Amino acid sequence: KLSGSSVNVWFGSKQVLKNINVEFPRNQVTALIGPSGCGKSTLLRSFNRMHDLSPDARIEGEFLLEQQNLYEKGLSVTEVRRRIGMVFQKANPFPKSIYENINYGLKINDVPKNERSEIIENALKESYIWDEVKDELQKPATRLSGGQQQRLCIARAVALRPEVILMDEPCSALDPLSTLKIEELIVKLKKDYTIVIVTHNMQQAQRIADKTVFMYLGEVIEAGDTHTIFHNPKNELTGNYVKGHF
Ligand code: ATP
Ligand code: MG
Repeated sequence: KLSGSSVNVWFGSKQVLKNINVEFPRNQVTALIGPSGCGKSTLLRSFNRMHDLSPDARIEGEFLLEQQNLYEKGLSVTEVRRRIGMVFQKANPFPKSIYENINYGLKINDVPKNERSEIIENALKESYIWDEVKDELQKPATRLSGGQQQRLCIARAVALRPEVILMDEPCSALDPLSTLKIEELIVKLKKDYTIVIVTHNMQQAQRIADKTVFMYLGEVIEAGDTHTIFHNPKNELTGNYVKGHF
């Protein structure tokens, strides 16, 4: 599992995450929900060490993947990001070929050259996009549709055999059909990966998430199995949010 304990994050003097304790169980999909600005993206990014480069960010707390402290001295950001892949709201393929989009990460992670094309093919298959792109691997990835680009970005993460895939609103720029394809893919992937998905789509959370975490103003208000969070929440704020009264 992936977990954060006593997590506090400040940007300058503004505290945006407040004493967060959270667990993302292995081989489950966890939905992270809450109003805009409550800190969902900041929380995901802190597991991926995305704030390492922002000088005004201050991060406190313990971030663990299994027994490994993700901020341990000597653990490189490249290694953290190999073990914890990330997919963003706006699909962000490199302005290179489909093939090179996946090959690049393999190179950086010292995967031997003669193994790469098989890994690339398998990652594309695993991400339900192989049939659509197999004859045009050398074409620019930016020519793919939004939904295809997002599945390519998932393939790019999957190719590195991560343990966790963090997804920050992966479907919010997509049409309903592309969204359903990605949801189907996410549910399939959970047998091999731990998945965290930030979403503003309450139906989506209920369709795909085993567990749901509700955040509000930088705090985790309530976490539990998705059915309970949506149908029998303990906290009034949670109840109001999932009913859309915000
Ligand atoms: P949304 O649903 O709109 O994506 P969110 O829950 O992902 O919102 P965050 O992006 O995590 O929210 O932002 C939480 C708070 O931290 C906001 O008040 C935001 O303005 C602030 N914030 C985020 N990144 C930075 C940064 N790099 N510097 C300063 N403030 C930041
Ligand atoms: Mg966000």
